[in-house]
Amino acid sequence: MIRPLPDSAAALASATWEDIEPWFDELEARPLDPGAMWAWLDDWSTLEALLMEAASRAMIRYTVNTRDEQAEADYRRFSTTILPQADERSVALQKRLVASGYRTPELDTAIERFRTSIEIFREANVPLMSQLEELGANYQKLTGGMTAEWEGQRLPLPRLQPFLKSLDRGVRERAWSASVQPYVAARDEMAALFDRMHALRQQVAHNAGFANYRDYIFPAKFRFDYTPADCVHFHEAVEQAVMPAFDRLMAHRREFLGVQALRPWDLAVELHGREAVRPFSDGAELASRAREVFERVDPELGHEFGTMMQEGLLDLDSRDGKAPGGYCDTLHITGRPFIFMNAVGMTDDVNTLLHEAGHAFHAFASHPLPLLWQRHPGSEMAELASMSMELLAAPHLQRPAGFFAPEDWRQARLDHLEDVIITLAHVASIDAFQHWIYTDPAGADAAARDAAWLRIRSRFERGVDWSGLERERIARWYRQLHVFLYPFYYIEYGIAQLGALQVWRNSLRDPVGAVRKYREALSLGATRPLPALYEAAGVRLAFDAGIIGELVALVEEEIGRLRAEAPAPA
Ligand SMILES: [Zn+2]
Repeated sequence: MIRPLPDSAAALASATWEDIEPWFDELEARPLDPGAMWAWLDDWSTLEALLMEAASRAMIRYTVNTRDEQAEADYRRFSTTILPQADERSVALQKRLVASGYRTPELDTAIERFRTSIEIFREANVPLMSQLEELGANYQKLTGGMTAEWEGQRLPLPRLQPFLKSLDRGVRERAWSASVQPYVAARDEMAALFDRMHALRQQVAHNAGFANYRDYIFPAKFRFDYTPADCVHFHEAVEQAVMPAFDRLMAHRREFLGVQALRPWDLAVELHGREAVRPFSDGAELASRAREVFERVDPELGHEFGTMMQEGLLDLDSRDGKAPGGYCDTLHITGRPFIFMNAVGMTDDVNTLLHEAGHAFHAFASHPLPLLWQRHPGSEMAELASMSMELLAAPHLQRPAGFFAPEDWRQARLDHLEDVIITLAHVASIDAFQHWIYTDPAGADAAARDAAWLRIRSRFERGVDWSGLERERIARWYRQLHVFLYPFYYIEYGIAQLGALQVWRNSLRDPVGAVRKYREALSLGATRPLPALYEAAGVRLAFDAGIIGELVALVEEEIGRLRAEAPAPA
């Protein structure tokens, strides 16, 4: 490099595109003889890793405090200016690499991705992508600022979580209404926001020569190993093999609660008449207990989580002004993951942390691969890492080291396994909805979208009485941030859950061997095609009702066993 690259991303915290562009100019102009190839790839990888880490750090600062105006400006500068321009320049470098004919087995999958990006890249889409980023930031600001009136106080929505699980039906109905209301009130504003996103996305697809955004997104998301038809198969397989189990869960819940009909506010309450369990008091306790749990899954994983605690790479507690949700992001230069969430002391928070930690372990495992593009496979594999961790950690969640007394553990375990079944159905509904949105001309119409949602949702959410609550049921998809921010990013959860259930099935026979294969698969990063990564983890990439039926049967069997262990009523 004429001007050397900085050692750390901190040097780029307030960089503008003008500061960064000369590095791309140099990489684009440097002669590429075979002997210089690796050094060129290494410089390019380092530059991108620096930019991504600087962008991640800006995003982290903004999401931990959405009122920090400087952080917001930095985050927006990276997401709307620097990264889109860098992406554009990267495509030029990808073209040089592909044109050079340079091949090495450890870069095969990356080159395949580059070739695809080149094919679908259009100059005209660059400004459209940055408009989409801008609209996405508006969605986050709108939802992040939502509060609800509760007992005379204004609370951020995640703080209502505990009341949604109240054993008092009146309390949970009020909490549920209060938490849905801001979305009902913002429906028109959010529908208008989505109208703009929808038009921009279809335009992006048309510019790239595709009939619609769904057809564009498959190559854009490097879905080389499955097709839209496979996704439709998945929807049908869920209908056939999951919905009967879903119906049994709802019937069980209705009987247990002793209600005539399940209403939407009856879905979060824990059964067996127990007061809501508080598995930890604050983020610090959540982290230290989690470390103990990971230690038992695998000592090396426990050590990695300890490193995150020491280095301040966890922001776990819910606070006013924090963005909603949870994520794990990777800092690509330091090779460290960062976990963000909104914990309020609930069992769900434990599951969220186990999930995000699975992503973090993936980052640790793949960072030793030399080039950025070798490290990060698609979400189908990334979510296998996180969802498997939820299942692998489950046997170790009892106190004293873990979070739960035996009876609470049994309950948490039941909730998790029931959630696995409900989530498969939810994934099918979100994916089927998005297929409809971008392939049916009526997807451009706000009222038609809401109607389609109700139709699709009733295929995959049965046994719940929504009468008189149509607006609230419609509000559900506006709350699904993926539909706004990460279109079509959802089927991955279904595919990965089926993989994770197979990892779990392996661990029932051979716990040590299953974790070893899991970690080996993570350490391959993105250097193998998806079916080969799954194979390395000891599982099969599958969409068919046959395997879904087998795995759902295994989950139902475990649910039956846990229910049978319920203590006798006093
Ligand atoms: Zn995840």
